[in-house]
Amino acid sequence: MDLTRGFTFLFEKVEKIFLSPGSAFSVTSLACALIVAIAFVVVRRRRRNRTVRLRTILHALFPSRITASASHSLDVGYFFFNTFVFSLIFGGAILSYQAVSNATIAGLVNVAGQTQPAALHDIVPRIAITLDLEMSAEYPVAGMTEWNFQKGNLDQATKDYAVEAGQIVRERGAVLHYFCVARVLEQPDVTWLQGLAEAGHPIGNHTYDHVYVLAQTPEEVQFRFRRSPWLTAGIRVGP
Ligand SMILES: [Zn+2]
Repeated sequence: MDLTRGFTFLFEKVEKIFLSPGSAFSVTSLACALIVAIAFVVVRRRRRNRTVRLRTILHALFPSRITASASHSLDVGYFFFNTFVFSLIFGGAILSYQAVSNATIAGLVNVAGQTQPAALHDIVPRIAITLDLEMSAEYPVAGMTEWNFQKGNLDQATKDYAVEAGQIVRERGAVLHYFCVARVLEQPDVTWLQGLAEAGHPIGNHTYDHVYVLAQTPEEVQFRFRRSPWLTAGIRVGP
């Protein structure tokens, strides 16, 4: 196992921990803390007219009940493992992985020629956000099922919600995939939906009336055909 790359990684990490201004372990902040602590001990001992010796100062700063405790050794051990052992091994592993992938890329470029780099970051989250434009039963109060009979007939609050959701997602550089229950298009004004389409959000089809596509009987197709059976009288569903 080649550890030289690991050592480079390790030195970078040590430098980051002790020398970077933002680190909790920076040498300057550790030194300042030590000076303040020593001054505190010295002043206290002087006030009580007691001798000031290096040994007693060290004892006061690092009492044996702390340095000897298992919890403290665990903390220190974990810090050292994290910084030194972990960096050395994993730094080596990460960097050899990089070397392998760089070599692979170089080989592919040799064979296939240079390609245009993609305009994407190294790590691209692949997330799809979808929103069905339909009313829900039990909205706005539990026990209310009227919307089951007119799923696509969106009320104003639901349309406002859909538009605002699209704006929030757009502002963050993405699009929201809507699914439209086409009955909403019977409403006199659909500019809110046109606006969403113009903003670049794809709008898919969620059937005309939120029908159950695997229905075996007309009543199963949509709740409203149960309430108004004459609409489907004489119509056969299924094979
Ligand atoms: Zn649905």
